[in-house]
Amino acid sequence: MTVPAHLLISGGPAPTPEEPGQPHSQKAPQMKQPDCETCRGACCEEFFIPVGPAAQRPGDDVSKWFALHATEEEGNLLRFECKCTKLTDEGQCSIYAKRPIVCQKYKRGGADCVEVLQRRRPLYWRYLSDGF
Ligand code: SF4
Ligand code: SF4
Repeated sequence: MTVPAHLLISGGPAPTPEEPGQPHSQKAPQMKQPDCETCRGACCEEFFIPVGPAAQRPGDDVSKWFALHATEEEGNLLRFECKCTKLTDEGQCSIYAKRPIVCQKYKRGGADCVEVLQRRRPLYWRYLSDGF
């Protein structure tokens, strides 16, 4: 899988239609622009913590504790399945105007968005890339 560029939080966005995501070099050439309302916050359902190469990780108790809570280890990252508490059941950000900067910087249609769509919303991704 592609490693999310912002690493710490795959936290997301829900840009409004008036605030479209920026084109990205890794975007699939024929891909339709994803819509956050349809996606319902795939990028707000997990986060990543960089832990470094396995051989170089500190063996301290906190590191061990983190690893025990991780859903998955992906290269130099631990992935945590952890839906944001501000994501509503309808997939909307309930603090959109005051969401963290990391969420504001997340680009709808960018590489991280594409990666999480492929993994968490495979049918929607298929629709966007192939039109079914
Ligand atoms: S993964 Fe992409 S389309 Fe889905 S909510 Fe996040 S930014 Fe929007
Ligand atoms: S604050 Fe809003 S945009 Fe950020 S991860 Fe939570 S629900 Fe998503």
